[in-house]
Amino acid sequence: MNNINEMVEFLNSKNPQDIIDKLSLINNNGNKNISNDNKTNNKYITYSKNVFIPVCNWCKNDCGYCTFRRENYKLMNKPEIKEILLNGNKYGCREALFTFGENVDENPKIKEDLKKMGYNSILEYLYDISDWCLTNTDLLPHTNCGILSYDELKTLKEVNASMGLMLENSSDRLYNTIAHKDSPGKEPKKRLKMIEDAGKLKIPFTTGILVGIGETNEEIVQSLFDINNVHKKYGHIQEVIIQNFRAKENIPMKNYYEPTPLKMLKVLIVAKLILKDISIQVPPNLNSETGQLFLFAGVDDWGGVSPITKDFVNPEAPWPKIEELKRYTEEFGYSLKERLPVYEKYINKNWLSDRILEKI
Ligand code: SF4
Repeated sequence: MNNINEMVEFLNSKNPQDIIDKLSLINNNGNKNISNDNKTNNKYITYSKNVFIPVCNWCKNDCGYCTFRRENYKLMNKPEIKEILLNGNKYGCREALFTFGENVDENPKIKEDLKKMGYNSILEYLYDISDWCLTNTDLLPHTNCGILSYDELKTLKEVNASMGLMLENSSDRLYNTIAHKDSPGKEPKKRLKMIEDAGKLKIPFTTGILVGIGETNEEIVQSLFDINNVHKKYGHIQEVIIQNFRAKENIPMKNYYEPTPLKMLKVLIVAKLILKDISIQVPPNLNSETGQLFLFAGVDDWGGVSPITKDFVNPEAPWPKIEELKRYTEEFGYSLKERLPVYEKYINKNWLSDRILEKI
């Protein structure tokens, strides 16, 4: 099952036997295209113990499903950020996830706030915080803040172990719908360019798709192929998040259906078959009842889980306790293994700055 049409046909199929066949293909490793190095063959599922730092919740985009963005924004100050980092250090966290809206300093008020703090831009501020984090804690920065230029990525690489940007979906049609019509940064070609730039710069990278925002099955499959094509050129994509849309009261898309567990299972199967040597991650807090069963589809990473901070993008969905994640995983016959925000295969001087490598 290697071409787009076959994958789409599978997603469209209403025959349960098709799912059973694909699951046995994945679990028996009958498909020669599935890498033998894949972690699930070694029977462990990874996660990263992190702290989530929402540096600023303004964003130049306005997505139809977002609950993070606020017009009346909050820009975290340095003492607040340092306190979370130090607390994370105490709890043994190893990832500092810095997340904020896209191009926040295009907002003149935020620009002014940053000036008062002594910075010309949000990225200057981020660099300084990341530098402090590396000097004073054992956490490794991972930044996810929307579109960045080649030069901005290059600068941030010095102080980041890995970086991320959700592709969401590569369809131009979808870009013009309720999900992204007010979000210039969600233009697929801009996002694919940044993912490609990260590859050119050898930055270990996390991306993903959002399922259930009005896309067609063809668009899901095409997006996964687009991610895989960039990865084939640069080899830098460490994980792909398959994230399910959640309907929430105060969003323009509140009446959209959330993807069903069956739809998620099928998309995960397709992702596993297309992405081969890339880890597949499903957020456990957004799939608390079904996530365990998704391990059947080859999910091999639970992503960032925090013992002290919430998921500020989905604040209504608490992280599972690490003990609980361990129980889910072990009941399945696998073991739970902590990883850093950068996957082991990238921990060398080809991929990481001297500063990060030394810290690891
Ligand atoms: S880009 Fe992210 S933070 Fe900005 S509006 Fe969209 S979902 Fe919200």
